[in-house]
Amino acid sequence: MNNKVAVVGGGLAGSLMGIYLARRNFHVELFERRPDMRTAEIGGGRSINLALSARGINALQETAVLDKILRIAITMRGRMIHSVTGALTFQRYGKDESEVIYATSRAELNKALLSAAEKHKNVTLNFEMRCTGMNFETGGAVFVNERTGEESVVQARTFIGSDGSASAMRNAMVEKVAQFTQEVLDYGYKELTIPPGPNCKHQIEKNALHIWPRTTYMLIALPNLDGSFTCTFFYPHKGEESFDTLNSDEKVRDFFTKNFPDAAALMPDLAKEFLDHPTGSMVTVKGLPWHIEDKVLLLGDAAHAIVPFFGQGMNCAFEDCHHVDRLIQRQMGLGRTTERIDWKEVFAEFEKARKKDTDAIADLAVENFIEMRDLVAQPKFQLKKNVERILEDTYPGLFVPKYTMVTFRRIPYSLSRLRGEIQEKILDELCANISTPEELDLKRADVLIGKQLDYIE
Ligand code: FAD
Repeated sequence: MNNKVAVVGGGLAGSLMGIYLARRNFHVELFERRPDMRTAEIGGGRSINLALSARGINALQETAVLDKILRIAITMRGRMIHSVTGALTFQRYGKDESEVIYATSRAELNKALLSAAEKHKNVTLNFEMRCTGMNFETGGAVFVNERTGEESVVQARTFIGSDGSASAMRNAMVEKVAQFTQEVLDYGYKELTIPPGPNCKHQIEKNALHIWPRTTYMLIALPNLDGSFTCTFFYPHKGEESFDTLNSDEKVRDFFTKNFPDAAALMPDLAKEFLDHPTGSMVTVKGLPWHIEDKVLLLGDAAHAIVPFFGQGMNCAFEDCHHVDRLIQRQMGLGRTTERIDWKEVFAEFEKARKKDTDAIADLAVENFIEMRDLVAQPKFQLKKNVERILEDTYPGLFVPKYTMVTFRRIPYSLSRLRGEIQEKILDELCANISTPEELDLKRADVLIGKQLDYIE
């Protein structure tokens, strides 16, 4: 009992945290609201596929799950920009083949993590157990069995709240002391499909993240293993041009044929899917504290949900688990056993070190929406990207593109944001009066970079 950790929420972060804890010999009980997705058909979840990058990869490697995931992941080397006329422009994400991201099935990833957790004899998985609250005085969490309706109280040495952006654990903390804000984006999203072509071939470039930027809205598509693409359409919830008004077969078809003609031609079920599928909402959750004494810690979306435009929510949640594990490891290095871990210290240090970084990625994610839906289509953006690449090659370790810091390195998000802002100003100045990368004034770059940036790696 003294080393029992109850993990509430068996999604991406919860199941990974379960593995980390099991590997350190804690007794782990995981509680998940839904049925076991490895045996039951689970419909209508959030986003079918996700972009996995360095921070997530590191955590999956540490927990020995990475090889399995990479076998079912698809490399995305860059963005493929689709203009209204159907013209394609490819913008590479990284400097070479070592800097790519991976399209991964959310369900397969979650199943692999649950199975990897279950392999440890000190892990018990409990499905269809919905947490409804927590009694901080008695240290028990209340669960309702979704099949029987029966209520029970679970005791544990401590609790990890990884129950996602609408977290019941967080709500229980808010009732006591915590203060959180939830900023719902005025854009929603809808998932659509480009089905596989003949012989399960992908109908558009397989190894890219496709974007149809249309200034105030956009469509994106990530590849799936079966040859299909999951497309996500981001559009305002309300207003003259919004999900509210795009509400009939004809309107949907006309809108897509006019604005995304090449994609619409590949979507035979477009109107039906559009009208049948739910419109998702996106929220930024910020607040503190993430822990109460040594009793409970929130992590992942439960602590800091972010909008999806930097492809970092899951990667950040996985990095949370890595950090918590590091803090446990440090205590164990000082001779503390699983029963004697000072959870209050672990939780407080985690919160102190991590909050500024999760705030930074939350802001970067909101900012990146404008980049994706608008800037990527502009010639000036492409010029800046080309100049950025020259600076990266000329000043290795000194000028590291923001996208690279966030996606391909594990540089703290707050530092990535800070350096990204400085670099953006340098780029603006260097690109102000040029129209090709060949015109770049490297002497001026020397001065600007030398004055404002120091080595990062
Ligand atoms: P979740 O994955 O939401 O897991 C929470 C779990 O808790 C679920 O299994 C849920 O059933 C369970 N649960 C909820 N309430 C209870 C309860 N009361 N009791 C018990 N169990 C409960 N991130 C990326 O890194 N890359 C991407 O490309 C990306 N794309 C995205 C696209 C979209 C459209 C969206 C919406 C998000 C995207 N994200 C992406 C973000 C990513 O999905 C989340 O950050 C990630 O799922 C967070 O993991 P989590 O475990 O904290 O929460």
